Amino acid sequence: MKRVSILGSTGSIGVQTLKVIDVHQDRFTVAALSAGTNIELLKAQIDRYHPRMAAVSDEHHAAELRTLLGGGDTEIIWGVDGYRAIAGMADADVVMSAIVGAAGLIPTLAAIEAGKRVALANKETMVMAGAFITESAKKSGASIMPVDSEHSAIFQCLCGHRKDDVKRLILTASGGPFHTMTREEIGRVTVEDALAHPNWEMGKKVTIDSATLMNKGLEVIEARWFFDIDVERIDVLIHPRSIVHSMVEYIDGSIIAQLGIPDMRIPILYALAYPERLPSHMPSLDLAGTGALEFYLPDVNRFPALALAYRAAKEGGAAPALLNAANETAVEAFLTGGIPFTRIAGIVGEVLNQENDTTADTIDDILRADRRARERARTLIENEEHHK
Ligand code: MG
Repeated sequence: MKRVSILGSTGSIGVQTLKVIDVHQDRFTVAALSAGTNIELLKAQIDRYHPRMAAVSDEHHAAELRTLLGGGDTEIIWGVDGYRAIAGMADADVVMSAIVGAAGLIPTLAAIEAGKRVALANKETMVMAGAFITESAKKSGASIMPVDSEHSAIFQCLCGHRKDDVKRLILTASGGPFHTMTREEIGRVTVEDALAHPNWEMGKKVTIDSATLMNKGLEVIEARWFFDIDVERIDVLIHPRSIVHSMVEYIDGSIIAQLGIPDMRIPILYALAYPERLPSHMPSLDLAGTGALEFYLPDVNRFPALALAYRAAKEGGAAPALLNAANETAVEAFLTGGIPFTRIAGIVGEVLNQENDTTADTIDDILRADRRARERARTLIENEEHHK
């Protein structure tokens, strides 16, 4: 029996992780849960799974949750210390890191320092602090399993092969809902247009990132650290059907791909069960019914966010953290109607341009860069709202 703790249990990946656990109750149990402020859903999860501990964002929400629960055996804790306690809890075997955004970094680092098996869905952890995370995992003996479908695919395509034989990684991208639109058309899209993802069911932030292609950019940086490979050897292909989840090309010209229906429960199950494979009880991929699988090169003129991510990855240091923080701030502003869609990448580019020194020797340097980029992005957004 594997005991699973979930950081971010009320988000999209957290909820799907619990569905996977439901299917395999003989293999997995819930050790601990954590959420931000969605107290009602967390309460329902506690009633159902009886975790030993549960954490929420702050003292106020902790008090509210205790009242809602009216007793019970689950210890309720809160704040970053609460999340860290969940991440490092002694009687958990696997920590699912599924908090969205930069907020996931510190709890995830705690799980890695505790030497856990970490199923990593929070890509920001690797994007912001890949060098520190991989170093820390080496020291503690933690193993990090990818949950992102592309990285899960690459992980599987690498199994049984020598790293020296890898020529390049090929990440596939659905292209999002706008991949056939002109620049002018993209300039006019609404929040609702951007939230209608064709293939994957995801949270709002990831859905917007997938429409700008920033999601793919963040995944390139994530892959750079996950698989210890130069970004020059990581390519992106638009593949609108989302059937081929990613590929690895070897030096002899062979390309190995991983295919499957686009459902996050499959990579989640793989990350939890590895090195075993368990039945997902999902329909088989019907290749004959799927028809042609098409691939295109991404167009960075229409989707400049991807080029910005490559630039930040090459620059290294705190540059990816700046990119990520500026993007999070800009996406929030877009979602609340503050800026048009095309300004998301515009703001990220301007924040990167404002920084001359991106050296980062510690995690604190990374966190400072994160805060600075958010302030700068907010200033740019406020100026923009002013001139409307
Ligand atoms: Mg992905």
